[in-house]
Order: sequence, then structure tokens, then C-alpha cells
Amino acid sequence: MADSYDILMVDDSLTLTRMVSAALADEGLKVATINKSTEVVTWLTNNTAKLLLIDIMMPELDGFQLLDRLNELGLSDGKQVVFISSKLYDVDKEQAFSKGAVAFIDKNTTFEAVKEAVMAIVNNTIKVTFWGVRGSIPAPAKNSVQYGGNTSCVEVRLGSGSIIVFDAGTGIRDLGKNLNNQRINSRIHIFLTHQHWDHIQGFPFFKPAFKPGNKLTLYSGQGIDTQRAITGQMEQPYFPIPLRTMGARVDFRNLAEQEYSIDDFKIRAINLLHPGKTLGYRLIKENKSIAYLTDNELPTSGRDSNAGELDLATMDYYHKLIDFCHGVDLLIHDSQYTNEEYQTHRGWGHSTFQAALDLALDAKVKRFALYHYDPDRTDDQISEIIQTCQEIIDRRGAKLECLAAAEGLEIII
Ligand SMILES: [Zn+2]
Ligand SMILES: [Zn+2]
Repeated sequence: MADSYDILMVDDSLTLTRMVSAALADEGLKVATINKSTEVVTWLTNNTAKLLLIDIMMPELDGFQLLDRLNELGLSDGKQVVFISSKLYDVDKEQAFSKGAVAFIDKNTTFEAVKEAVMAIVNNTIKVTFWGVRGSIPAPAKNSVQYGGNTSCVEVRLGSGSIIVFDAGTGIRDLGKNLNNQRINSRIHIFLTHQHWDHIQGFPFFKPAFKPGNKLTLYSGQGIDTQRAITGQMEQPYFPIPLRTMGARVDFRNLAEQEYSIDDFKIRAINLLHPGKTLGYRLIKENKSIAYLTDNELPTSGRDSNAGELDLATMDYYHKLIDFCHGVDLLIHDSQYTNEEYQTHRGWGHSTFQAALDLALDAKVKRFALYHYDPDRTDDQISEIIQTCQEIIDRRGAKLECLAAAEGLEIII
């Protein structure tokens, strides 16, 4: 009788199949293993598996030839195909994606990371990690240890292994160390909102940029010379090591207000209200999405309610933002000021936490993370602000999970 498994692992290394299958079985998954690629067709004729985890370099049929064969016979239909390999070249990845693979796992990484990567694919999760949540300037202090003093940086790791980073403030330094510790050797997409210091200053300390073989793409708005901004801050007298000697391949790409398909995700850009050209992003992966809108002056800032006397153009901008982040699983939004502080900071390009909460409620997002705190905001004040937000949500009878972004905080979507 046909047996159905969660995973079929095909790899000529007996040690690897034993270790990985045991670890995945511990997670409650039913795993089958095959060490000879020529036996897969017969196995799949008699059994089935939801996910095929296939090595690329194998004697007899290699991983690509095996997938071709399975595609021809219809044996890959309805299954997720994931390649695991110690040699991941861009050309191989492109070829594999075109054959229907959904993800890659790097064998050079730690064993724990391989297990985590498989589990993320099985559960189709997105992991969001905050590495820097502060606006304007780093604010290390005794009263900022709970939420953190590093400036803007958020990592989004897709189940497929794709790595997306929003902004390169000083928080990106710890992200880089973490990626290197996991021995991740990969392509990294860095979406910059704009070029103010608190969004680019950590880049010269981003370790993966020094690693030959890594490929980094930095995205920003049209008409912005990001290359000059990044290389400029790395030249004498500001910094001793120029970008060209960093080792990794670094590309720059400008985005307009539209949607792009990149690797296995989509990204939509929107112009925000902030001095200089600033982009906000909506990241879409199948039925899940995240909006990253920071350094944005919401027109409802400084009001007790967003109803009322806004002029047409302003109202139009607000509605455009509502549409842009409507229904997202997570909205990360600039929450720099209180209503009182805003009175003396009008036109500075930042929002009050009350206005950001209004947007989250109006756009019916599922979770809202306050972000880009004023450098003078203390831990106690942030905790109080979250409490105030919760009171507003309860008073309105709304359903919204509201949280304060904090360094090291991970959110699984
Ligand atoms: Zn900023
Ligand atoms: Zn800014």
C-alpha cells in the first residue's frame, strides 16, 4: 500500500540523510530517505511525499536531471521541490527555479540552520527580526536597553531562504554578524527607504559585504544616487575602507512606485512624505504581506481624530497609504512623536504614534509594530505608549495586535 510522507530526502551522503531525517522526525515530520537518485522514480510511483529535498551533486542522476525526470513523469506534481547543496551558484538557482523548485538550502550552513530552513518551508513561515528600531541617531543609554539604541534595520527571512533587509542603520551590524555565524553565503536584498544617516550608517560594518561570493543588491527610489551616498560615507575622511575593496558584489537598483517580482517574492514601492525622496515598501509572499513605512509624516499627526478638515490632496495621500498597507499581516510604521511633541516638529517628516495607530486601524492590518522611536524616548515611555495604544484599540472595540518593535524581537508570520 502507498505510504504518504511529509518529506522525501534524496542525498548520496548517508550521514547527512540520517542526521537531517532524525532531526526532522523530532519535529513530528514523517521523513523517508533515499541515497541513490536512480531509486526515486520507483519510490514515488509507490509512495508520496509533500516535499522533496534533493541534493544537486549526486552520482548517477544529479539533482537537476532527477527533477527533469520527475517533471516528465508528473511525479513532482503537487509537491514542493527544495534543493540542498554545498555549491549554490546563481545560474544553478535560476535553472532550478525555472524547473519549479521553491527554495534552496545551503549545506555549508550549520546543521541547526538546515533544520530551521526545512521547517520554515514546511510551515511557509516568514520570520521578521528587528535589529535596530531607533530614529535619527543611535541612542545607547541605561534607559534604552529594553527596546534598543541602534538605528533602523529589519530582517525578513522567507521560508524559501530569501533574505530581505529593510534599511541599513547601525542595527545592520549585528544582523551581519548573525548571518556570518550561520555561515550564510547568499544573495541579500537591502531595501533602503532613503539616505539619511540613520538608514545607511551601518552598511560599512555589515560583515557579509566583505565576503567574496556574496551578492548584495541595494534598492532605493528613482532619481536617487544611492551608490554615491553609500560610497561617499566610506571615503576619506569619514571611513578608511572604500566600498570597492569590500569583497562582495554590490549592485544598486532604483525603484519606481510600482510592483516588482524579485526571486520568489514581490515588492511594491510607494513614495512617502519625508524630506528628500523616501520609499515605503510592501513585501508580498503568496498570501502573506508586510508593510514597512518609516520616515513618513502622516497627515493625521497631531490630531485626536483623523476625521475632519483635511484638504483634498492630503486626504488623497492618506487614502493611498490605507490602500497600500490594507490587510497586511504586519505594519511597521514610524512612531517618532507624541501629539504634544509633534506641535513643534511639524514638517520634519515623522509621525505621532497616535496617527500611526489610526493608519493601522483604518487599513485593518493584523499586527502593528511601533518603530523609529525618537532618540530621547526612554524604555518606560515606550511601554507607556504601548499601553495607551492598547486603550485606544479597546475603546474602539477594534481587533489589532499592537506591539513595540525592540532590538532582537522576532515575529513569525
Ligand atoms: Zn530615519
Ligand atoms: Zn529620514
